[in-house]
This record gives sequence, C-alpha cells and structure tokens, in this order.
Amino acid sequence: MQDGMSESPGFCRACGSTLEWRLPDGDDHQRRICTQCGRIDYRQPKLGAGVVVVNDGRLLMTRRSIEPYLGLWCLPAGFVEEDEGTAECAVREAQEETGYEVEIDRVFGVYDYADDPRGRGTLVLYEARLEGGEGRAGDDAAELAWMPIESIDEAEVAFRQHRRAIHQLQARMRGEAADGARS
Ligand SMILES: [Zn+2]
Repeated sequence: MQDGMSESPGFCRACGSTLEWRLPDGDDHQRRICTQCGRIDYRQPKLGAGVVVVNDGRLLMTRRSIEPYLGLWCLPAGFVEEDEGTAECAVREAQEETGYEVEIDRVFGVYDYADDPRGRGTLVLYEARLEGGEGRAGDDAAELAWMPIESIDEAEVAFRQHRRAIHQLQARMRGEAADGARS
C-alpha cells in the first residue's frame, strides 16, 4: 500500500466530488480518482530548494522558528512555488531567511527524502556565494549563524538530507572524495 492510502482520498479539484482510490487501466499505481467526473488527481513528491553558502570555512545556517524540528538548524531552503524554478527558489529563500543576496554557482546535490512529516520530496541544493545584503533572520528562521564546518553537530541539524549535505561538505573540506551514496 502506498503512503497515505489509509487516509480519506479527499475531494476533486475540478468538481469538488469525493475521490476514491482506484487502479486506472494500464497504470501501475493506485490513483485518487473522482467518483463523478473521473479526473485523476495525480500527486508528486514535494520539491524544495536551498543554498550551501560557505565563507571562510563557515557554513551559513538558520535555526528553525516553526515545526517540524523547531529550534534545530538547517540550510536556508524552502518549497518551490508553482511560478518559479528551483534556482530562483533557492535565491529567494536565502534572501527571506537570512537577509543575504546570493548568487548561484552550481548544483551542490539533489536529495530525495522521506523523513519529513509533511511528506516525501526532493531537495535541490545549490552552491552559492554572497553578493550583498545584511545578515538578518526572517521568515521561517529565528536566528542565523556562520558555523565552522568541521564542528557542526548533526544532532542539532534538522532533516536527513541537510545532514547528508553537511557530511559531504565536511568530507570535501578534509579532501576526501565525496561519496553520494553514504549518509
Ligand atoms: Zn471531479
């Protein structure tokens, strides 16, 4: 059984009628299907984006001001809005949460995850550098910090995919080959 199939499948976004779980002809997944108009309500994992900003051996981190994982630290990141791309989202989230303007250099990594209580998803992290602005926590961030990369305590870090990215960064700082499969 897929995640969430025991829950009520909800209502049709087109006509408002009840949805039901059914396997469409030729499909390999049970879908939420409208009992009235037959519209299939496809669901995809959530898409998020964020930044890895390193300055003088320190990583820009924010402390969460909301659940889940309130009070723990993470990279500046958030969910992609429907009218933006992942890189745009990463820049926007950095600005909203830290006050810094950043410019994207390259993709740092792409992470699928299933440990977020809001649902599974994919996070795209970009390496970025400071372009301006003044450090000021905002939006979902209560506080920001430039943490010395080697001494970041993973018990203080929210989300497995953020911990993985930090491990990879630490390995890179030590000159080890990054191993994408390890967490
Ligand atoms: Zn419908």
